[in-house]
Amino acid sequence: MEKNKMQASRYTFINKQSASNKMPRQINRNLIFNQIRVRQPVSRADLARTSGLQRSTVSLIVEELLAERWIVEGSMGRLPRGRRPTFLNLNSQRGVLALDIHPEQTTIAVTDLGGKILAEKLIVLPKNAEKVIGAIVDSIREMIAAHADRIFDGIGISLPGRFDLDLDKSVTDKSRSDKSGAGRSRSDSSGGKKSVFAPNISWPIGGIKSRVEQATGLPVVVDNVANACALSEVWFGSSDGLHDLVVVNVSEGLGTGIFANGRILRGEGGSAGEFGHVQVDPNGLPCGCGSNGCWETVASNRAGMRYYHEIASKPSPAFETLLELAEAGDPAAREAIEKMCAALGRGMHMIASALAPSEIVVVGDIANSWHFAGSLIESAMRRNPLVRVPRLRPALEAGKARLRSAVALIMNENSL
Ligand SMILES: [Zn+2]
Repeated sequence: MEKNKMQASRYTFINKQSASNKMPRQINRNLIFNQIRVRQPVSRADLARTSGLQRSTVSLIVEELLAERWIVEGSMGRLPRGRRPTFLNLNSQRGVLALDIHPEQTTIAVTDLGGKILAEKLIVLPKNAEKVIGAIVDSIREMIAAHADRIFDGIGISLPGRFDLDLDKSVTDKSRSDKSGAGRSRSDSSGGKKSVFAPNISWPIGGIKSRVEQATGLPVVVDNVANACALSEVWFGSSDGLHDLVVVNVSEGLGTGIFANGRILRGEGGSAGEFGHVQVDPNGLPCGCGSNGCWETVASNRAGMRYYHEIASKPSPAFETLLELAEAGDPAAREAIEKMCAALGRGMHMIASALAPSEIVVVGDIANSWHFAGSLIESAMRRNPLVRVPRLRPALEAGKARLRSAVALIMNENSL
């Protein structure tokens, strides 16, 4: 309870002191909504106690949330004496579709408003680049049809690329006839303008937002997976929203999401956070971005698999299997993962030096093996002096972090 009171006062603080992009009312609504999510069924009196907000403020917010059907009144509480309180719950009729996009596969999930996954499906994407978005759209339609009893608030899409939201607004039906727009070319459905930078994606991802919107009629929010995960850390309460944090998504490539001064740092055209494409070795291997020796060429899952190939002189298994081998003590797998973690840690040093975040949060398969990989990454990060050493940790529920981040996109967009 004390922690929550502290959190409430921090939310007040952030508003007064920093450049939060949310108004006090919205922050308090977010706080109350999250309290209901975590504690449901819960009474108004308990919300006032746990949030640290005035009883009258809580009542006002609850009435708004009820009127907008984010929450519903449920059963009556049973107390020994006095008035029987009415318990509050999230509206279980409403949901979000969450998409976690990788270069060769995509996970689609139905979640409730609290980010709880109710159904989940993995799609292996077609080899034919022109058929990929069609396959994703078909799966979304099937998922919606299978959950026809639910009202969807929108579709959140986390993807490994930078999406220029302004340019996407100009995307029209042209996306349907687009033939050229691989992510690598940065030429896509917006008529040659760069609406998306996704060097590891070889299909025309630029048209995904408009195609899914046209097919479903639902609002679609697209963002870089690392940005979305940073938002999710704040939205679902793992971070207090006051301290700066950087999310590092370790996957086929490396992406970072920067939450600073109470908001996601986006930069011109939404392209901030590309630490993965900072050159760390001028003589290094070619990178999908067109450069060579980028951080992601030495520290991504692909780098780990390449190290194994070089050390064991045989092809690497899938990255998840490589991690299992390393944990089981296989010498070549261990050496490969150690080399990858050392490279990750050196990059974390760069991030800590540049931004001095309070936390660096890791998302991706490597975060699922934190007991093994965490100390390797941390010791490499600390090898050279830092003015401030950030706390390094895996994302909460690391296995589900990417999907939950897609839910956070929709919830944040609706601003509750
Ligand atoms: Zn690069």
